[in-house]
Amino acid sequence: MTSFILNFEELNAYLFAINHFRKGTPNQWDLVAEYVRGVSLQGCKDSPTVCIGASTTKNTSKLKNLDLTKNENCLILNSIFPSTFKDSLRPRFEGCPGKNAMKSIILLPHEMTCCGKNIKMDNRPSHPLVYTTGTFIGALFHGECSKCKTKFYPSFKLISGGTNGRIYYDPTDISSPYFQVTLKTVFSKSLLNDFTNNI
Ligand SMILES: [Zn+2]
Repeated sequence: MTSFILNFEELNAYLFAINHFRKGTPNQWDLVAEYVRGVSLQGCKDSPTVCIGASTTKNTSKLKNLDLTKNENCLILNSIFPSTFKDSLRPRFEGCPGKNAMKSIILLPHEMTCCGKNIKMDNRPSHPLVYTTGTFIGALFHGECSKCKTKFYPSFKLISGGTNGRIYYDPTDISSPYFQVTLKTVFSKSLLNDFTNNI
């Protein structure tokens, strides 16, 4: 059996692309390769390489470089390992009910340190509804500063004993893709931007 040497960043991009441009999408492999090329252009040449299909016990296989920026190579990888990379993460998470962190969207506090120390994280998530390209149940973790007792959430912090309590972070800060409106409601900022642009 032939084993393949792949650029890790290209493989990563390929994995995203085959779940994004799903089977049935016209020109699926052109689109997959184009996406990989786009990521590749951002400079992944220095990324580590991975080998797939090699035997760890027998040294009988041939090694072949597989450049995933070419659509025929994307198709080869898919035809040799037809079921290996087919699993989209989101449906797998949607099949995990229950009050746990097995959710497709994980929300963390905007700040992780306070008063010169790491904040103390509560390891039991709450489960707000997250409105994005669909509606999902998220797993939201919050933290608290053990010194000043400020509580930290994705879009705001609650100052202990303060009169106006909730302080929101700059909603235009692109480092966080989500905006938490209440303890139970979160919007993706791209969805809010869409609304604004279409009104
Ligand atoms: Zn503090």
